[in-house]
Amino acid sequence: MPSLNEIRATYLNFFAADGHEKVHSAPLVPQNDPSLLFVNAGMVPFKDYFTGASKPPYPRATSSQKCVRAGGKHNDLDNVGYTARHLTFFEMLGNFSFGDYFKEHAIDRAWKLVTQEFGLDAKRLLVTVYIDDDEAAAIWKKVTGFGDDKIIRIAGSDNFWAMGDSGPCGPCTEIFWDHGDKIPGGPPGSPDEDGDRYVEIWNNVFMQFEKENDQIVRTLPKPSVDTGMGLERMTTVLQGVHSVFETDLFKTLIAASEDATSTKSDGERAASHRVIADHLRSSSFLIADGVTPSNEGRGYVLRRIMRRAMRHAHLLGAADPLMHRLVPTLVAQMGDAYPELARAQPFIEDTLKQEEVRFRTTLGRGMALFDTAVQGFKPGDMLDGQTAFTLSDTYGFPLDLTQDEARRRGFSVNVDGFESAMAEQRQRSREHWKGSGQTANTNEWLAIRDRMGPTVFNGYDAIEGSGEV
Ligand code: ATP
Ligand code: MG
Ligand code: MG
Ligand code: MG
Repeated sequence: MPSLNEIRATYLNFFAADGHEKVHSAPLVPQNDPSLLFVNAGMVPFKDYFTGASKPPYPRATSSQKCVRAGGKHNDLDNVGYTARHLTFFEMLGNFSFGDYFKEHAIDRAWKLVTQEFGLDAKRLLVTVYIDDDEAAAIWKKVTGFGDDKIIRIAGSDNFWAMGDSGPCGPCTEIFWDHGDKIPGGPPGSPDEDGDRYVEIWNNVFMQFEKENDQIVRTLPKPSVDTGMGLERMTTVLQGVHSVFETDLFKTLIAASEDATSTKSDGERAASHRVIADHLRSSSFLIADGVTPSNEGRGYVLRRIMRRAMRHAHLLGAADPLMHRLVPTLVAQMGDAYPELARAQPFIEDTLKQEEVRFRTTLGRGMALFDTAVQGFKPGDMLDGQTAFTLSDTYGFPLDLTQDEARRRGFSVNVDGFESAMAEQRQRSREHWKGSGQTANTNEWLAIRDRMGPTVFNGYDAIEGSGEV
């Protein structure tokens, strides 16, 4: 049974043998797109080659790109620990053609890799194409021998990709694996497609047209290909398991977290161990790429991820800071493929430890406040907004941490109430400062506070617009 590290190498070598330049992952902080929170797809570092803004040094490339989807347009944070297929940090394997090969070669290679190199059973695979992409459908038919029932036409945006309102765009084709009828969920395009039975493993995007102001205005003279395969998802398939958390890498990380907390990953605790293992990866890789916890922007997303993991460590009864103790296991697993992770190990450990020491000074008291507030609650009840706000403002609980805890117990949080409590508190501080006799500096301070709130930041949801497969 191949390990995750071997599967990554197989993919990259397969495409290198087909004339693709092997390119190391770009950092998680986008170098060429300030509107994007984190790199969330393999194509992001190559964007300028696809738009024509710069000339690619090679016609084909292959990479395993670090991706974080925890904020902005693609936010999988709430899914983690609860679905079999979502992580906040994952590796996206990709092969890219910059005006070189197109649909025929991409589909032919994809099928060879999946069925010959990886040896998957064609009976358990199915594919989707964009509703009017007759060309892709015909190629799939020829290459696989599938009937129309296994080449599903999809009308929605899942199968049509665009870089933004302007720029390259085109149809996608996606490959799905059937994990079997014991798992709930329907095939793509059916009403229960969000279940975990049919899992999307690979997306191939055919950049064929160009948009201006959201209208397709021309056909690209040299169309391109951009693909993304989730390494962890492919690993589940090849290791004969269903959930990404059952793969070799995650089993090792979860074993380390079991060891460090002297608990087993079973029953109610299983989700905590999964969240810890996932968030350990996203936090460590973000810190290695220079993000530090703070109350704004990228640093605030990192803080939310870290504190959520720390909340789960507390739930497992960890008496001392936990996260930094798991870093050596992560580095042992992933440091060869990502030397930047190994180099940053001491810094990652320090950053995690400091944050956990700091958060633990308020975590216990915040949890006590939460427990008191939900006393006598029945499933479906809603925590009031003022308490959620106090938890955020005084105890350093980001709203989504409170929501995660509420969800775990079958409750929800009054988000409108939270927002109005926050607005009231801003108004109060504004009035308070009015009387202070100062002007210039306080105005500046209030502007910053208005922009950020005391500990809450959610501005990126509004501005992020591009960059995904
Ligand atoms: P899904 O529909 O399952 O959420 P997606 O359509 O959002 O996936 P794409 O944007 O097409 O995913 O990304 C390309 C590939 O990256 C997917 O086919 C999948 O294998 C992988 N992938 C996407 N999101 C995640 C995630 N949160 N965790 C792990 N792998 C992921
Ligand atoms: Mg998704
Ligand atoms: Mg999808
Ligand atoms: Mg997709």
